[in-house]
Amino acid sequence: MKKIYFTPGPSQLYFTAEEHIKNALKESVPSISHRSKAYESIHQAAVESIKQLLQLPEGYHVLFTGSATEIWERTIQNLVSYESFHFVNGSFSGRFHEIAENYQINAITKKVAEGQVVKPEEVLIPESTELISITQNETSTGAAQPLEDIKTIRSAFEKPIISLDVVSSAPYIPLDYSLVDTAYFSVQKCFGLPAGLGVWIVNEKCIAKSEEKMNKNKIIGSYHSLPSMIEKSVKNQTSETPNVLGIYLLGKVANDMLTKGIEQIRRETEYKAAVLYQAFEECGQLSPFIKEEKYRSKTTLVAETKCDSSEVINLLSQKGIVLGSGYGKFKKEHIRIANFPTHSKESVELIADELVRNFK
Ligand SMILES: *Cc1c(COP(=O)(O)O)cnc(C)c1O
Repeated sequence: MKKIYFTPGPSQLYFTAEEHIKNALKESVPSISHRSKAYESIHQAAVESIKQLLQLPEGYHVLFTGSATEIWERTIQNLVSYESFHFVNGSFSGRFHEIAENYQINAITKKVAEGQVVKPEEVLIPESTELISITQNETSTGAAQPLEDIKTIRSAFEKPIISLDVVSSAPYIPLDYSLVDTAYFSVQKCFGLPAGLGVWIVNEKCIAKSEEKMNKNKIIGSYHSLPSMIEKSVKNQTSETPNVLGIYLLGKVANDMLTKGIEQIRRETEYKAAVLYQAFEECGQLSPFIKEEKYRSKTTLVAETKCDSSEVINLLSQKGIVLGSGYGKFKKEHIRIANFPTHSKESVELIADELVRNFK
């Protein structure tokens, strides 16, 4: 039986991905030179589709890396000399903070328990902070930072760079990107593509900051320093031989999403999330891990399980559905369900039925 992956990354491929992969092979996409005109047009098409899909404002650039993890490191290298401030509420937000600490800067954190979000009114951010890092959707717990909070933080802190992790929420999340200076994602989550490509969005303020750091003779990295990445990207190129197939597929899938319509994708995501949360509420064996509704993620849904989570996972697996286990220490106590654009309403309804039928 062919399985459908509801794991929160890697996940089920976008439903058009297979056809695009076949076409890419027919067109020898993996063999073309990354210095050719053919590559430049693939690169440009991907950048244009992402800009349109996310409705990026003027002056925002789209850059390609190997992963979102790489972007954490590049962010610290390029945009921070002394001090960063991290909203930490789970494993992914915590990992970025650790990477900042590896750079021996003053990496400050406001940390709350897993399942919560850091509330803007509860943080004290020093004047000296150069960068504020927020994780919009903490995939390890299923907690989502409301978009009003991003607005509140932006209006309270004009000067520091605001960096937003949208790895497991873009393009669903209707974010006004002008509220942040940099945002990033990788393609194996909501975009439903093979892993190995990170997308880094930066504005002019980020570029100026990295140049300022460089001009003070500080290290900002080499081939993936922001100035080198920008220098190449204006020519629709990259410093290294990039993941050409991944960039090709991203352009194609982003374009398919534009054809479908981002509003339609958002409506479907909200419907499917409502169906699953309703099922969690109806099951005596399950309950939503995030107690307050306004902090519940619509793209990565987490339920606490009274039984060992493997019982739930094994049962659904017999129906050809692969759910995610809890993250890290929650492995046995949680299930995690990805609700990405490729996941159909019918398959989500099937999961909800099975949960209600078997874990009432
Ligand atoms: C998956 C994930 C990452 C890391 O992405 P990689 O592509 O594995 O580097 C970072 N942040 C969040 C919120 C994630 O879900």
